[in-house]
Amino acid sequence: MNTKQDARVPSYRRLPIRFTHGEGARLFDDEGKTYLDFLSGIGVTALGHAHPGLTKVLREQAGQLLHVSNLYDDPIQKRCAEKIAKACGLDLVFFSNSGAEANECALKMARRYQYNKGETERTRFLALERSFHGRTMGALSVTAKEAYRAPFEPLIPDVQFVPPEDARALEKALETQTFAALILEPIQGESGVHPLSKSYLKTALKTSHGTGTLLVMDEIQTGGGRTGSFLACQQAGVLPDIVTLAKPLAGGLPIGATCARREVGESLQPGDHGSTFGGNLLACRAALFFLEELFERGLLQQVKAAGEKFRKGLESLSQKHKTIQNVRGEGLMLAIELDQPSAPINQGLLERGLLANALAETALRFLPPFIVGNEEIDEALWILDQSLQPAS
Ligand SMILES: *Cc1c(COP(=O)(O)O)cnc(C)c1O
Repeated sequence: MNTKQDARVPSYRRLPIRFTHGEGARLFDDEGKTYLDFLSGIGVTALGHAHPGLTKVLREQAGQLLHVSNLYDDPIQKRCAEKIAKACGLDLVFFSNSGAEANECALKMARRYQYNKGETERTRFLALERSFHGRTMGALSVTAKEAYRAPFEPLIPDVQFVPPEDARALEKALETQTFAALILEPIQGESGVHPLSKSYLKTALKTSHGTGTLLVMDEIQTGGGRTGSFLACQQAGVLPDIVTLAKPLAGGLPIGATCARREVGESLQPGDHGSTFGGNLLACRAALFFLEELFERGLLQQVKAAGEKFRKGLESLSQKHKTIQNVRGEGLMLAIELDQPSAPINQGLLERGLLANALAETALRFLPPFIVGNEEIDEALWILDQSLQPAS
């Protein structure tokens, strides 16, 4: 709620709910009400709330060091980069603090790579319609939505947008123009959870490489295991030149990571790019813990199993409720498309204690924490079932 007493810029429409604490997939508010958190702070709190192991390592780290800056070496940051790079199948990582910043670095890295190769004309970017890459000037330049862009123009010039899933349009653009990079989300998140097909992703890789264009995969929402593999593009067997990560990567702390193959990452030499907070030790310690949970303690398998169960449940609800047009997404990044506005339905979910997200007018998005249990999925499906009953 924004009132005259609120000193915050009114750029968000906040609901009048004040959470006091959380535990696992649940949140509690100051009126004693319990919520099932199937949004995870927009895909961020992948380990749920108040995870005992994460809390422990953060306490430990906070009692040792929070920040020393990138003027000095640090083994935690170094190990964190190694693990992230390996999980992506890439070599090098630049740390920042958010998704938009990770994409900023990707755009600069692509430009610098082409520049170093003497390709000084290769400055343009190709992106997809329905894309979302963040709100800073560079990331906004490759974001399609007119309402986000228009009031802030001029942005980076010469960004071209092509319709997603139209392989011919993509090939034509790449073959007739020169670009520094093509940037895309394997599942377009903010525009309504629209997955790109495996064949389209393969075409994107083949054609960008065939034309000297770098492929940047924005896995800020899809990456870090949310779709059941570390990267969503890995399911299509596609290895991009650059991958950007953020949302779930530090289990709730701010982090951004721009991962690249060696030759591309090495185009940024001392002085070319920087971030004061990037690689912050608390965030890196959290990311290391998150990656251990994911790969060494079975969390990635858990995402896959929970995602399948949730999707099956949504699909059977779609048999029962004709308002559900389809179920989209992968792993624990799922949405249902309705034949009616989704905001009132989402309000009904909220009243019954289920947090989800209405977007693109008629879609409802779910981004549960990776630790979500079977009973919690059943409960969420039951609440959804209730909320979709026509009013009698
Ligand atoms: C959330 C998101 C971003 C922006 O991340 P911020 O941390 O809000 O800057 C960029 N790309 C994708 C695909 C996202 O989902």
